[in-house]
Amino acid sequence: MIPADFDYHRAESVDDAARTVADGGEDAKLIAGGHSLVPLMKLRLAAPSLLVDIAGLDEIRGLERSNGGWAIGGGVRHAELQSRDDLGVLARAASLIADQQVRNRGTIGGSLAHGDPASDYPAVLLAAEGEVTARGTGGERRIAAGDLFRDYLTTALAPDEVITDVHLPALDGWGWGYEKYSRRAEDWAMVGVCALIERSGDSCEDVRIGLTHMGSTPLRASAAEEALRGGPLDAERIAAAAEQAAEGTDPPGDLNATPEYKRHLARVLTRRALTQAAGA
Ligand SMILES: Cc1cc2nc3c(=O)[nH]c(=O)nc-3n(C[C@H](O)[C@H](O)[C@H](O)COP(=O)(O)OP(=O)(O)OC[C@H]3O[C@@H](n4cnc5c(N)ncnc54)[C@H](O)[C@@H]3O)c2cc1C
Repeated sequence: MIPADFDYHRAESVDDAARTVADGGEDAKLIAGGHSLVPLMKLRLAAPSLLVDIAGLDEIRGLERSNGGWAIGGGVRHAELQSRDDLGVLARAASLIADQQVRNRGTIGGSLAHGDPASDYPAVLLAAEGEVTARGTGGERRIAAGDLFRDYLTTALAPDEVITDVHLPALDGWGWGYEKYSRRAEDWAMVGVCALIERSGDSCEDVRIGLTHMGSTPLRASAAEEALRGGPLDAERIAAAAEQAAEGTDPPGDLNATPEYKRHLARVLTRRALTQAAGA
């Protein structure tokens, strides 16, 4: 399909991008890698009148560690993250996104701003209790992952706000696992699970579990976390906690999986992700 006509502006800076989108009215949109927006345009599910291209902005392409956390530019591509072993679970999630062609163009800021609950980064950011910095014509603000994702393809970002940085706590000493189930290797997740565990000897000091595609936004598996936190970390308790992974979820059914099958997958993948995170 051929998209509807649109005007194009290559932004010279984040401030220029924000201003141009704000001046362009409600049909103006940012574009970065284009690997979520362009498919929607081709299907005529989106028809922006103006695209403001931020893909070339070096100011949102940084990647550095300071003060116990990572600051990852919103314009950093999946391909750059997939090879950064020091980023732990985020690198693992990046490596499982689509195929290399998509990973070479798609960006972390674009993925988070798109707000698709089937995308891999949102559940990771939610479990890690990360944040984004968003800058628009009204100034700059930090948004916690828990406040960013509002509904299906809906975030707390204003149209003229650019995700300039993604803040990921380093979580030194935490074990991690990311499990994703899809029919073909390059597909979106039917269900994905990010598990993070902080051990203290043989017991679970803290645990966080993020779920991909188990509702209209990424979710925390709070009941499973509660069941595991503060007790011994063995295979039996991990399996018992994982049985509660689908509690409070409302997964959408689709051509690939019914809601009940997704609940089953959430339990199985949570057990696997927790086992990996526990180093058990
Ligand atoms: C075949 C295929 C398979 C895929 N499979 C997966 C998968 O398995 N897992 C997965 O997670 N993703 C998958 N994706 C999506 C892919 O990861 C996209 O690259 C990503 O979701 C969007 O990033 P982008 O830079 O391409 O954003 P774009 O498509 O350019 O933009 C997406 C949205 O974000 C906005 N935006 C872009 N950048 C910013 C920013 N910095 N600040 C604020 N708003 C911004 C745009 O206005 C637009 O609304 C797949 C895509 C394709 C085409």
